[in-house]
Amino acid sequence: MTLQVCRYCDGPIIDPDDAVAVAHEMGMSGPGWTVWAHAEHAALVDPDADADAVRILSHVLIVKALRQD
Ligand SMILES: [Zn+2]
Repeated sequence: MTLQVCRYCDGPIIDPDDAVAVAHEMGMSGPGWTVWAHAEHAALVDPDADADAVRILSHVLIVKALRQD
């Protein structure tokens, strides 16, 4: 079993009953992955912050791809 890490505090989630799925992120070349958080931290995770980071990252990758020729 893969150790799950809390998106909010970056701590490992030891107890499976304490793991809450807060989001599902799409992978570039795969099915993506589930984002987990401690039950007490799930409400504190801000999915929009990560969406922005992903948007910025994909923009950088697109610009790089366009510049290749
Ligand atoms: Zn946590």
